[in-house]
Amino acid sequence: MKAVSPRTSVQLPVAAPSDGMPLDARDGPRDECGVFGVFAPESEVARLAYFALYALQHRGQESAGIATSEGGPIITLRDLGLVSQVFDESKLRALDGTMALGHVRYSTTGSSAWENAQPIYRSDVREIALAHNGNLINAVELHSELRARGVGFRSTSDSEIIAAMLSTHDADRIEDAVAEVVPRLEGAFSTVIMTRDRVVAFRDPAGLRPLALGRLGERWCVASESCAFDIIGAKLEREIEPGEMVSLGPDGVESRIVAESDRRAFCVFEHIYFARPDSKLEGKLAQVSRRRMGEKLWEESPVDADLVIAVPDSGTPAANGFSQASGIAKDDGLIKNRYVARTFIQPGQELRRHGLRMKFNPLPEIVGGRRVVVVDDSIVRGNTTRQIVGMLYGAGALEVHLRISAPAIRHPCHYGIDMSTPQEMVAHERTDAQVAAELGADSLAYLSLDGLYEAIGLPRETHCDACFTGEYPLERTETANGKFALEELAVVRA
Ligand code: SF4
Repeated sequence: MKAVSPRTSVQLPVAAPSDGMPLDARDGPRDECGVFGVFAPESEVARLAYFALYALQHRGQESAGIATSEGGPIITLRDLGLVSQVFDESKLRALDGTMALGHVRYSTTGSSAWENAQPIYRSDVREIALAHNGNLINAVELHSELRARGVGFRSTSDSEIIAAMLSTHDADRIEDAVAEVVPRLEGAFSTVIMTRDRVVAFRDPAGLRPLALGRLGERWCVASESCAFDIIGAKLEREIEPGEMVSLGPDGVESRIVAESDRRAFCVFEHIYFARPDSKLEGKLAQVSRRRMGEKLWEESPVDADLVIAVPDSGTPAANGFSQASGIAKDDGLIKNRYVARTFIQPGQELRRHGLRMKFNPLPEIVGGRRVVVVDDSIVRGNTTRQIVGMLYGAGALEVHLRISAPAIRHPCHYGIDMSTPQEMVAHERTDAQVAAELGADSLAYLSLDGLYEAIGLPRETHCDACFTGEYPLERTETANGKFALEELAVVRA
């Protein structure tokens, strides 16, 4: 057992977050989280973490945090907001260290309250900071077990459960603690932790969420996506295997398989939408896969039209593929406000009445008098799509045909993606023609499941596609706990 001083972590003061819910025009599935870790004593590790998180910002915009250590106490700084809002020069300078951990968050379990921002810090038997992407499906069970052992919690996120299990574990080496804890976790977890002397990363045995190993000169780093390596000049070495743990320290990188599973289940939605287009997943560049999805979509569901437009930016690569395969010209018929992602100001009744165009503005000069194919990557509730269709007709389009470069979403995700309940999903118990009518479009077609896997060039057996099919790859998933399960538990206990 290691003795740890009780005052080992410094929580740096930051500005209080604004009250109120963010107004987010996004209607699609919400990204989950992005994680990063680096061991590099010769480098400014906080700055590396900052830029890596900046590249991973698309994976979570609710909160951001960095933890560092130079072999002594772990320093953490986290807050609600974008990476560029949470950190400035003086804060980065205060985060000195030889290693760093970073996290951007969109809440999938637990609310977006400050306490749930990461990296999570705990100091029980050992001091650790933790950054997690995913969702535990046995969170309530593990939480109850830890509570029964007298372990207290400060947050309502499932990530603190993993942190508590590792922080209270009495193995001398953190790697041995991880090897014992990981087999007890069920669900999706691409996780990076930091002790006072190492950065350790591990991935769930099904490999649901991405996690990759990068080389930074003679040193090593880990990140959710390879785009985080590109920005800091690191090279993608390989993906961390499902069930693998890697430990980064002064002696380089050590690897161990800590959990096995017969079923690999990488989230196919990472290929469709979540990952940045310049990230490589399973050896495939997302931008190229998405373009092929558009080509397949044309092969499966052609339409007589004059113009292809993308719902920017996520529909752009598939629209390129659709246009190229069909020979129908593509143009920018919808202009996107790129800075709309997060505002706490509500529009008010008057602006709502005027049809506030928060995110997209159509160009009548481009779409007017033309039969338009609109390509997007997915539809969940359909509110934004319905607005876009209405705007395009308002701008003079003669026909609006929707082509979606993924199958219809009809089932919730329990592995770290926030989607609506099935009842809120526009495709729930509706045929494609009924969805088209509901959205006001002349026609609608989705890419088939076979077409999707052909476009990616990988087999279905090693992926999760449960939000399309309802076939969950992990046992006990359907009894999984909801996003606010731990909060409900806390209320029951209170
Ligand atoms: S249910 Fe959908 S979003 Fe969730 S992990 Fe599976 S494929 Fe990805």
